[in-house]
Amino acid sequence: MKLRVVVLGAGFGGLELSTILSESMGETLDLTLIDKSDSFAFGFSKLDVMFGRKPVEAVRLHYKNILKPGVDFRQETITSIDPKSRRVTTGHGTYEADILVIALGADYDISATPGLAEGGNEFYSFAGVEQLSKLIPAFSKGHAIVGVTSTPFKCPPAPSEAALLLHDHLIKRGVRGDCEISLVIPFGIPIPPSPDTSKALLKAFSERGIKFIPNRRVSSLDPKRHVVILDNDDEMPYELFLGIPKHRVPDVVAASGMTYQGWIPVNPDDLTTEFPGVYAVGDVTSVGTPKAGIFAEGAARTVAAAIIANAQGGEHPEPYKGIGSCYIEFGAERVGRVDVVFLAGPPTGYYFEPSDELVREKQHFGSSRRARWFGL
Ligand SMILES: Cc1cc2nc3c(=O)[nH]c(=O)nc-3n(C[C@H](O)[C@H](O)[C@H](O)COP(=O)(O)OP(=O)(O)OC[C@H]3O[C@@H](n4cnc5c(N)ncnc54)[C@H](O)[C@@H]3O)c2cc1C
Repeated sequence: MKLRVVVLGAGFGGLELSTILSESMGETLDLTLIDKSDSFAFGFSKLDVMFGRKPVEAVRLHYKNILKPGVDFRQETITSIDPKSRRVTTGHGTYEADILVIALGADYDISATPGLAEGGNEFYSFAGVEQLSKLIPAFSKGHAIVGVTSTPFKCPPAPSEAALLLHDHLIKRGVRGDCEISLVIPFGIPIPPSPDTSKALLKAFSERGIKFIPNRRVSSLDPKRHVVILDNDDEMPYELFLGIPKHRVPDVVAASGMTYQGWIPVNPDDLTTEFPGVYAVGDVTSVGTPKAGIFAEGAARTVAAAIIANAQGGEHPEPYKGIGSCYIEFGAERVGRVDVVFLAGPPTGYYFEPSDELVREKQHFGSSRRARWFGL
């Protein structure tokens, strides 16, 4: 009998899990990987699209390239999940699983921030960055605000990167002197677990004249008066707003009854949910790591090791520790790195200064996953 595994979502978590299970179990596996999209893209490629460095089509990795023993990819929209019976319904049919893994990521709730849809922009979706790739070249004068509207949000370094890359872009166009850039984030320092990384970013902001506004979030925008309103009622005039929208689980996850306080709770050691045979990994959970691909991938590795151990009688994995490395774009083609550990005591981070080696390492991060997951 083949083990029937159904993986919901082919993002960082779902792709890594399917790849490892295929490599270890091959044809003894009957894995169905379901995603509504026809392609995957790395989160950081949104910054490339926003600043016109690449067109959207160039950053998409198409699921039709997934040819792995024991894995069947289906492009279908999941319409219901019953975690008790491990039964999943899509627009095309119903799937029953011995093991169900939920890796459906986080969606955005643009309407949760009044005025954002009418008077601002967000750079967390492809629709948002495509729109901004047209607006940014026309921004030559005034105040640009990069602002976080809510926590948790994906990739905590991304707002800092966006502010630094915007600075570069305006310098290249010769209009930086006519523009102000402010960064509003809800933390006291840019990367709370790593004071050294935060110090380097704060230095970079101050050298470039980027105003850093800590411990604040944007609660609304008033498009008529062109002001951003912060959570302490302070107002900031703006000409261009680059927002990080409120995150939430996809509707189908909310309707499944699996969430508590907005996210799927899991045992942080092994990513099990309260439902037997059902795991959840990545942004859709409240596991205690930031929402980032590198953590979704690490969680998927722990789940894969447990599934393989159960199926083949091997050793069970060590508890998941929430370890990950995040690359940080400082602009001017300089890339630093922070290595963080979240679930083995108080969160800690270790900073690596920007170097040419880290530029190559970040490229390898993308190309190695493209090869492993897509054979490209
Ligand atoms: C600007 C930006 C920069 C980033 N930079 C980095 C970085 O440098 N490093 C890093 O590690 N992370 C980065 N991230 C974060 C990273 O992209 C996410 O945290 C990561 O993709 C989460 O992985 P996941 O597997 O949990 O979910 P996802 O990768 O989001 O995958 C979820 C999948 O579920 C599918 N899905 C959702 N609902 C349904 C449904 N009803 N039916 C079918 N399919 C559905 C979606 O189509 C999606 O493919 C960045 C994010 C952004 C926005």
